[in-house]
Amino acid sequence: MADEFDEVVEEVLASLEPEARQALDNIEIMIDPERPDYMPPGALAVFNGIPITFPHRLRLPVPNQIVLFEGPIRRYAAHGFDVRVVIQEAILHELGHYFGLTHAEMGDKVQA
Ligand SMILES: [Zn+2]
Repeated sequence: MADEFDEVVEEVLASLEPEARQALDNIEIMIDPERPDYMPPGALAVFNGIPITFPHRLRLPVPNQIVLFEGPIRRYAAHGFDVRVVIQEAILHELGHYFGLTHAEMGDKVQA
């Protein structure tokens, strides 16, 4: 019935603008079944890493990751949204954090 989530994510990644795909070369895309309890209830994904706007001296050699929360994304999409669009928006939102943008700068209501 439901599409394999990782395959849908691959399709979305392949459909992104070249600039976004290039930035994502530096970011590992992970899928977790649910959001952790410490995340805000509206969160569909999270960026784990250090924004490129951080001063170089504060950089740690940690991998950048975007973690997509499959259950929350599927339940959100069940309200009449295309899961591909929800995944794409979640990835682009977290990519915004990689570029150092705040929620105010991104102008949306996503929680994480
Ligand atoms: Zn955010």
